[in-house]
Amino acid sequence: MDYQDGNALAGPLSEIFSLDVTVAQGKCAACGLRGPLAQLHVYGPDPGLVARCPSCEEVVLTLVRGPNDAWLDLRGSVSLRIPIAE
Ligand SMILES: [Zn+2]
Repeated sequence: MDYQDGNALAGPLSEIFSLDVTVAQGKCAACGLRGPLAQLHVYGPDPGLVARCPSCEEVVLTLVRGPNDAWLDLRGSVSLRIPIAE
């Protein structure tokens, strides 16, 4: 199945976060791989975006956008380290 890289999350996530989270460092809950969200393998867009770990292929995050809501599921990530400009 074809996928895009994690940069495909930039537009949809920009509705939720006011900063570019694709540069955030995530940690995969399944294998512990750390890296920028831009490295994730993104499937979709229908019925939602599913971003998988480039190492173990487990789901790291899902984003489903409805007409009035966005559902962000981050259960596959241990943490996000988000750079903040000073
Ligand atoms: Zn992984």
